[in-house]
Amino acid sequence: MTDGYFERAPHSGRPAVIGAIEAGGTKFVCGIGDDNGSIHDSISFPTGRPEETLRRAIDYFSESGVKAIGVGSFGPIDLRPESRTYGFVTTTPKPGWNGFDFLGALRGSFGVPCGWDTDVNAAAYGEAIWGAARGLDSCVYYTIGTGVGIGVYAEGRLLHGLLHPEGGHMRLRRHPDDGFAGVCPYHGDCLEGMASGPALEARWGTKGHELAEDHPAWEMEAHYIAESVASAILLLSPRRVILGGGVMQQQHLLPLIRRKAADILNGYVAAPELAEGLDDYIVAPGLGTQSGLRGALALGIRALERSGEQAAASE
Ligand code: ADP
Ligand code: ZN
Repeated sequence: MTDGYFERAPHSGRPAVIGAIEAGGTKFVCGIGDDNGSIHDSISFPTGRPEETLRRAIDYFSESGVKAIGVGSFGPIDLRPESRTYGFVTTTPKPGWNGFDFLGALRGSFGVPCGWDTDVNAAAYGEAIWGAARGLDSCVYYTIGTGVGIGVYAEGRLLHGLLHPEGGHMRLRRHPDDGFAGVCPYHGDCLEGMASGPALEARWGTKGHELAEDHPAWEMEAHYIAESVASAILLLSPRRVILGGGVMQQQHLLPLIRRKAADILNGYVAAPELAEGLDDYIVAPGLGTQSGLRGALALGIRALERSGEQAAASE
């Protein structure tokens, strides 16, 4: 079964209420929507310790009558359905969250079907269904913010594999003028270590949004993102590349990244999307800052549909 069955038209019956949680390492966004894909209400609060944070989320949904909940979570998380720790946050250094049973806390409170995936896979899913990759059977979604993450939607499904892709931690060819050691506590100079918001700040001593458009920071920033995008194109052959997250608020980055990615590929991948179509191939999120929350909603809708299919199959 692929994940692509949202191609259906919105149904005309009374829509089911669906909960959505975009669980970021910095903040939680919770939304109440429906199975036609609309969000009707949302709240946001800082991510604190897990028990208190989940309590706020559960309180928010408690009177809503949700029929399913979808979660896109910061990670790493356990996505293997057969695993004893399925639904847990795993090796994060975030205080209290290592080994926390996120999905168990939700299921214990609501007893409804729950969808569960990484924050970036959720965002890729939202974009594939309603955003910049609508109608396409593959895309990669980047968030370049406090961390860097890459979600992968391929052949109509979200990619998981061994755990889930961790493309934000890939090492890349260094910029020739760059002596910066990088900020990733695990790898130093991986993509996150070199190009996240905190990396920008550590390297230049100034927050990203305070750096002028002609500052050399941006050419270097574009270099690392383009190195990664070119590798993603070579490895996954996505039909679209979507670049989101706080750092991508810098509008001038996108054309720089496109040009550098094309230079790196050097004409080898012979697709019109990588030549005259580049402006429509490496793009900003179609859902703006809502990709993660709408993606979580889509995960909730899918969980509800799958539970219906299972019920029908066992009748
Ligand atoms: P998070 O990754 O925490 O979910 P964001 O995607 O908003 O949240 O990313 C926050 C990071 O992006 C911070 O490091 C911040 O400095 C950086 N950032 C936010 N806005 C901008 C901007 N306009 N220009 C450059 N960097 C920005
Ligand atoms: Zn790393």
